[in-house]
Amino acid sequence: MEKTIVIGAGFGGLALAIRLQAAGIPTLLLEQRDKPGGRAYVYEDQGFKFDAGPTVITDPSAIEELFTLAGKKMADYVELLPVTPFYRLCWESGKVLDYDNDQQKLEAQITRFNPKDVEGYRQFLAYSQAVFKEGYLKLGTVPFLSFRDMMKAGPQLARLQAWRSVYGVVSKFIEDDYLRQAFSFHSLLVGGNPFATSSIYTLIHALEREWGVWFARGGTGALVQGLVRLFEDLGGELVLNAKVKRIEAAGSRVTGVTLEDGRTFPASAVASNADVINTYQKLLGHHPAGAQRANKLKRKRMSNSLFVLYFGLNKQHTQLAHHTVCFGPRYKALIHEIFNSDRLADDFSLYLHAPCVTDPSLAPPGCGSYYVLAPVPHLGRADIDWAVEGPRLRERIFDYLEQRYMPGLRDQLVTHRIFTPFDFRDQLDAHVGSAFSIEPLLTQSAWFRPHNRDAHFANLYLVGAGTHPGAGVPGVIGSAKATAGLMLEALAK
Ligand SMILES: Cc1cc2nc3c(=O)[nH]c(=O)nc-3n(C[C@H](O)[C@H](O)[C@H](O)COP(=O)(O)OP(=O)(O)OC[C@H]3O[C@@H](n4cnc5c(N)ncnc54)[C@H](O)[C@@H]3O)c2cc1C
Repeated sequence: MEKTIVIGAGFGGLALAIRLQAAGIPTLLLEQRDKPGGRAYVYEDQGFKFDAGPTVITDPSAIEELFTLAGKKMADYVELLPVTPFYRLCWESGKVLDYDNDQQKLEAQITRFNPKDVEGYRQFLAYSQAVFKEGYLKLGTVPFLSFRDMMKAGPQLARLQAWRSVYGVVSKFIEDDYLRQAFSFHSLLVGGNPFATSSIYTLIHALEREWGVWFARGGTGALVQGLVRLFEDLGGELVLNAKVKRIEAAGSRVTGVTLEDGRTFPASAVASNADVINTYQKLLGHHPAGAQRANKLKRKRMSNSLFVLYFGLNKQHTQLAHHTVCFGPRYKALIHEIFNSDRLADDFSLYLHAPCVTDPSLAPPGCGSYYVLAPVPHLGRADIDWAVEGPRLRERIFDYLEQRYMPGLRDQLVTHRIFTPFDFRDQLDAHVGSAFSIEPLLTQSAWFRPHNRDAHFANLYLVGAGTHPGAGVPGVIGSAKATAGLMLEALAK
């Protein structure tokens, strides 16, 4: 029997493969790299373990659903640990906000910034909860295949003023400049510019308040391993080092794939978790429908890229929280440059990950694993030679962290490595090295985003950050639900 093929073992591809296999559809998962996880790859060196990408795990119920639909218990595969505070937000002025799920504690901190904003924050929370209900719970896993679906959602989106930006809505409720940053930076976690992205993305705030922020024991890599084990326990087959070169097509159907090493696999249906633009440009570029689609998609605005620096120290910095946002001297102007400029800014804002705060097993005893990332322009916008700029930026960031957050860092360094926009392009095959695929603007969301089923090839599907609803672990797991629904419906016919 011909299998169904899923190309790419990111969270989206894995979640889809599990759903298909759990429904009794023999599924083959092909991953180009030597490990699964995609952006959630894992590096290991001298006893240090570094999660390459996602570290803030939200909506654990979406993950748990993958186990329960397969008749298994999540606890037998992976353990999620709560993270407190959710994030520590730090500014150069010395101001700090521990963003937490405890309303009283949060309000006490908001009072220290601006007492008037307590009421404003309550209103903002109520607003984001309303968006969360409409945008996430109702529409997050619905495939927007027709414009009619979009029209149906129109009235709710209009009522929630979805045309406004995240920052615009936050500023409507909150006065203080620091607090405006604190409650608007979230869209950056999924590649959205808070000054341009639809206010729908304020739902991330409500999502975190509703279900908390979690971290897998053993790191996000342990969550990936848990999902792989679940898929294999169900009888699914994962092949690593299997780079798909072409999706084969005949007429309006796809028939299988050919790997770069020449191996071929016939398929009853193909779902691609690979970069959405490269799926059409590289894997289907030999077919006029693929080439045409790629040309159209290349006109979309892409999300920013990231510069990521992983490092291991022979000391644990116990003064740090698990997640720290280190705001730089500029907010709006810096974000504008990241999304619109053709050069690397002189300053940066950072996200610092210190997982040993929650799980010390990620480093040798007494040591600490860390990563720090800075949003940077993608390669289609800024022609930066990262082979030169990468090491320079690494040194600037090490200096900054040592001065402000991690005294003695340089003397404590045991190991480090960087991941630049070149690596997003070359190792993940990400179009223009974007870290989050197509930018989550209102005009590029829902029906306006690449659909979960292709319009030309009846049995070709898409899953992951480039499709609806978009980037982020809950987003791509939601996209897998939308795509699986379409695939199962087609098979039932
Ligand atoms: C540094 C970083 C930090 C992040 N932090 C968070 C966070 O804390 N919380 C959160 O929710 N989200 C976070 N995100 C976003 C989140 O990680 C991504 O949106 C999500 O993991 C993307 O999943 P995906 O399934 O779309 O694809 P990917 O993870 O990109 O996986 C796609 C897979 O397809 C494979 N592939 C590509 N082409 C081929 C081919 N031709 N043949 C075979 N295989 C192929 C790739 O190798 C890859 O494994 C972060 C992202 C980054 C980069």
